[in-house]
Amino acid sequence: PDERVLSIQLVPFDITRKLLLSRDITQLERVQTVHRDFVANVSHELRTPLTVVGGFLETLSDMPEVDDATLRQFLALMLEQSRRMQSLVEDLLTLSRIENSPRSMQQETVNMDQLLDTLMVEAEGLSQGRHQITLDNRCRRWLRGNVQELHSAFGNLVSNAVRYTPEGGSITLAWQEQDEGRAVFSVSDTGIGIPREHLPRLTERFYRVDRGRSRGNGGTGLGLAIVKHVLARHQARLEVHSEPDKGSCFSVIFNAEQLAARE
Ligand code: ADP
Repeated sequence: PDERVLSIQLVPFDITRKLLLSRDITQLERVQTVHRDFVANVSHELRTPLTVVGGFLETLSDMPEVDDATLRQFLALMLEQSRRMQSLVEDLLTLSRIENSPRSMQQETVNMDQLLDTLMVEAEGLSQGRHQITLDNRCRRWLRGNVQELHSAFGNLVSNAVRYTPEGGSITLAWQEQDEGRAVFSVSDTGIGIPREHLPRLTERFYRVDRGRSRGNGGTGLGLAIVKHVLARHQARLEVHSEPDKGSCFSVIFNAEQLAARE
């Protein structure tokens, strides 16, 4: 007889129950801590731009006369902060929409050629000619999934590549076949890269390698958290290869079951 099974059966009912309960409570406490941290983070992220806008408005209202140049400068700075708050709220809404929608979401065939073209247009728009952007579309198959969610996840990888690659760098979007019927969507860049010790925590909400740089270039700190959620719903896996000062490659690997024939 298997002794492990026997020993489990020998544990009196109330002890097992207690063990289970204490595990549930630990789990519950962990969820509560995560929730509290999240609320604190969101409040902090919103408070900073609000304080800046409030400060400028106060200064302006205290000034007896404001020359045109100063006014324009203040307005530009306030606009930047309001855009920052807008991106944050949009990312929060995207996250909550994904979390609250049923796990068994409606699946459709996603026209990858079209989605890749849209992503290329968006990448060019964000880059404004500062990078060389290439598309390598070699996979003959399309995806099964939710087009909005996939667009949002892939779009976040693309905007990160643009954001963390200095002017003159290259970015490649690729859709390729892999072994065993899998397919990979990847975004690689020749940007600043990520030190190894940060890799495991990248998809945590509000986790940033360099806070100043992320905020300065419009990052909300939620992009990769959105990516993680979307990929989990599509049974896809994220792989990150990165080297500081060389660049990064974010690959999304889809199983054969998630692929569809071209229509
Ligand atoms: P953010 O809005 O700050 O970009 P993300 O969740 O999208 O938030 O990414 C988390 C962090 O991972 C970023 O702050 C950045 O430090 C790092 N990162 C993401 N993508 C890249 C990339 N392509 N190159 C270098 N660093 C990256």
